[in-house]
Amino acid sequence: MPELPKELHPENHNPTVPGQGLTKEEAFLRMLHGHWRYLHNQRLNTETTREDRERHAEGQFPFAALLGCADSRVSPEVIFDQSQGDLFVVRVAGHVAGDFEIASLEYAIENLGVTLVIVMGHEQCGAVKAAMKGVDPHGYVGRLISEIVPAIESARDEPGDALQNAVRANVRCCINHLPERSECIRNAIAAGQLRLIGLVYDLASGDIVIHETLG
Ligand SMILES: [Zn+2]
Repeated sequence: MPELPKELHPENHNPTVPGQGLTKEEAFLRMLHGHWRYLHNQRLNTETTREDRERHAEGQFPFAALLGCADSRVSPEVIFDQSQGDLFVVRVAGHVAGDFEIASLEYAIENLGVTLVIVMGHEQCGAVKAAMKGVDPHGYVGRLISEIVPAIESARDEPGDALQNAVRANVRCCINHLPERSECIRNAIAAGQLRLIGLVYDLASGDIVIHETLG
């Protein structure tokens, strides 16, 4: 892991300007370093002080947004060792990018100045398993699972582990859908102001594997 530039160290960042003043490259480097600390049991962001809470009451200045699964084992602030106020997190089973999830990401980009959006899938995702099995498309659960089915079908002929392939395909489809569906995301990428990263988290090892990068 390369040395983290001093200004990006969690103790030196400025949490009072939009996007914490980070470029998309700097934001991603901070996430990677946080993940390294998590993996090596060196988490720094484990306490919240009274001063932190008072600062939070004045406004929020996250430096990255993350669309992830609602699964209880994939908490972004823990996995990337970030503090309250650092990440704008949108979580829903299977990290489905529907209207309200996209609206939330657009808010983070347009109003909070984030330069990085991560889509985080994970191995053994129950929502992806359900989509592979097929469910009654009626009801709320059926509607959500139906959103994942096209991704599953796109990976049907890939060699290797079917569930792993489906998890990756769900991340890939999500990364492709975001700029297709959102003019805000499309424009920010075209202007060089936004990066989308699609990755998969492994529950057992804690590793992340990056599968998609846009912008
Ligand atoms: Zn999941």
